[in-house]
Amino acid sequence: MTLSRTAEVAIIGGGVIGASTAYHLARRGARGVVLLEREALFGMGSTSKCAGGVRYHFGTDINVRLSLLSLPAFERFEDETGFSADFRKCGYLFVLTSEHDLALFRGLAERLGRLSIRSELWTEADVRSRLPMMAWPDAVGALWGPDDGLADNGAVVQGYISGAGRLGALCLSGIEVTGLLISGGRVEGVETTAGTVAVPSVVNAAGAWAGLVGRMAGLEIPVVPSRRQVVVTAPLPEIPADFPFVIDFSQALYFHREGPALMTGMSNPGQTPGFDESVDEGWELGHLLAAAARMPLLERAGIVRRWAGLYELTPDRHPILGPVEALRGFYCGAGFSGHGFMHSPAAGLLLAEVILDGRARSLDISPLRLERFSRGEFLTEAVVV
Ligand SMILES: Cc1cc2nc3c(=O)[nH]c(=O)nc-3n(C[C@H](O)[C@H](O)[C@H](O)COP(=O)(O)OP(=O)(O)OC[C@H]3O[C@@H](n4cnc5c(N)ncnc54)[C@H](O)[C@@H]3O)c2cc1C
Repeated sequence: MTLSRTAEVAIIGGGVIGASTAYHLARRGARGVVLLEREALFGMGSTSKCAGGVRYHFGTDINVRLSLLSLPAFERFEDETGFSADFRKCGYLFVLTSEHDLALFRGLAERLGRLSIRSELWTEADVRSRLPMMAWPDAVGALWGPDDGLADNGAVVQGYISGAGRLGALCLSGIEVTGLLISGGRVEGVETTAGTVAVPSVVNAAGAWAGLVGRMAGLEIPVVPSRRQVVVTAPLPEIPADFPFVIDFSQALYFHREGPALMTGMSNPGQTPGFDESVDEGWELGHLLAAAARMPLLERAGIVRRWAGLYELTPDRHPILGPVEALRGFYCGAGFSGHGFMHSPAAGLLLAEVILDGRARSLDISPLRLERFSRGEFLTEAVVV
């Protein structure tokens, strides 16, 4: 496929956010949608590094509502795209080790209950009986979210890209956007390694690189790359089939089943910003010691895979979603701060609405506008892992 010289909407980035946006635009009947991904394959950025977690349990209404739009879409995914998202409701178990966190999650359970999202508060004894292979001497309780779970990031990208293509969008890999054409305060095109495309609407879906794309337009888009890493063990027969997504909340340490094995990750509070995606072996050692303290059988487990990838952090850990006031025709779908996979169905749906209808109809996304940072309208998300 070759790049046409004109288009109606250009999407920069073929990760899960760009793919979902292309799909939702095409499903609405938009013509002239072109998605440009610089890597040889789609979804090779942060999306390929994702742990696959999807959950309703967030601290802010806007994040919960993004989940309410997204998780049911993973359930319908195969009917819509022909690809199964492999959504497994294994449940999330947030294990809490302080009274402060217990109070936070108690409030969360009440608030989410009003939105018909199921949660249960568990005692420390419940945690011990449910997870006998783990050690929680300091637990004070837990929150159980039975409808949270895991989905397949690779399949979701593939489903969106192939669905978008079937509906008429042009999704091209191996093409990098190198500049934006701007005139009179509006975007008029993109410059790429395969030539220039005249286009009146451009979506920045460049993930951790969204700040660099912003700079092409002279805009400050505060998305900071931050390395996160995970390891996957050799098969562990001791892990039951119904093992949930377990989070040691105070340490941002998590575990979930990965086939017959276990995946574990932990966020490094001392991580400096940057695009380095090599595995930090010093941090990995600390992570593995913390993981083995919670699950002693890991001391005997082999490690078969490990990788590092980039979170795309905004100052308030919420995405930047919608039109950018300073540049007409320019839209942002970036900065999902480690939750972009689970919120990708909502992000694509809402961006398609903003572009085609002039406003997001399914959800008021004005709290997520870029301008909130310059206006001091920061959001606060307490449930970040
Ligand atoms: C270790 C780890 C675990 C995670 N776990 C979870 C999880 O459990 N649940 C969850 O929801 N999220 C998780 N995330 C976060 C999630 O992976 C991201 O939020 C999501 O993938 C972001 O998608 P994206 O499309 O915005 O970015 P990306 O997937 O990074 O896509 C952006 C794309 O833009 C392309 N690009 C950049 N610049 C240009 C340019 N100039 N021209 C053309 N193309 C360009 C890049 O090549 C890239 O493919 C995790 C992330 C990591 C690193």
